[in-house]
Amino acid sequence: MNRISIPYDPVEGKTYSLFGKSDSTDEYYQRIEEIADRVIKTWKEPEQLLKAIQSKSKRIRVLRIITGRKENSLFNSWLKQLLHEHLDDYTSKAAKHLRNLSLAKKLWDRCQGTTLEQYQLYMLEIEITNRIHVQQFLESGVKIALLPHCLKDFTTECKSTPDSFDYRCRHCSKNCYEHYISRLLTKYHIETYIWMGAGISKKAKEVYSNHQTLGILGIACIPELVWGMRKCRKYHIPVIGLPLDANRCARWMGEFHRNSINLERLEKLISTSGIG
Ligand code: SF4
Repeated sequence: MNRISIPYDPVEGKTYSLFGKSDSTDEYYQRIEEIADRVIKTWKEPEQLLKAIQSKSKRIRVLRIITGRKENSLFNSWLKQLLHEHLDDYTSKAAKHLRNLSLAKKLWDRCQGTTLEQYQLYMLEIEITNRIHVQQFLESGVKIALLPHCLKDFTTECKSTPDSFDYRCRHCSKNCYEHYISRLLTKYHIETYIWMGAGISKKAKEVYSNHQTLGILGIACIPELVWGMRKCRKYHIPVIGLPLDANRCARWMGEFHRNSINLERLEKLISTSGIG
């Protein structure tokens, strides 16, 4: 890992923070790894497990919003207990945020309306998706990373510029996470973009027409990351991802606040072999 001189202080999110009660996110990653180990050991079929988690997380949201109560029969109590026991520290504001949301937002804004149970299932889904896909991602002929623009240094005027696909960091600030992430990923031959909405299907067509394979690495807040990963899985694109340390962008906070990711964890993810 390159020497990183950017500060890594705890950040609070609107609904979640991977720092929890710690001054680092290492504990979160250790906990989610342990949970995934236990769940995979019990379930044995990771692909089926992923489908089951995806299906549970959909039904829970709808039922919680419409009935306002928990539906134990649909939510395996062992898994629920495991997630609550180990992940409540990281999602402590989710329930309050949901209580204060209008019914219309709860129903129609799936990002803002994410429930506590969904956050915790999504955390597990990201970890298991990474394990299933990482090897195939690393073996892809073209690997791209899509970074959220909320990791920029907001104290300076960003010099990133578009290329034929999307925006590229021009490394103008050493106080910017995008700078460190793109340096790190380039070292691993991953094309890194600040994602401003470029069409993935166009990129996929271009890659496949050159008889190459495509792998995608996403970085985003937890709900956005999960939906992006699901979309990639739907199109059989090997996808891996790392969640932002908290949800702090204008969508959640009204204005942008400095955010971070665990850079060591990112490097660990792209130098691992997964469970495939
Ligand atoms: S380092 Fe890159 S992303 Fe950060 S402000 Fe400069 S050009 Fe923009």
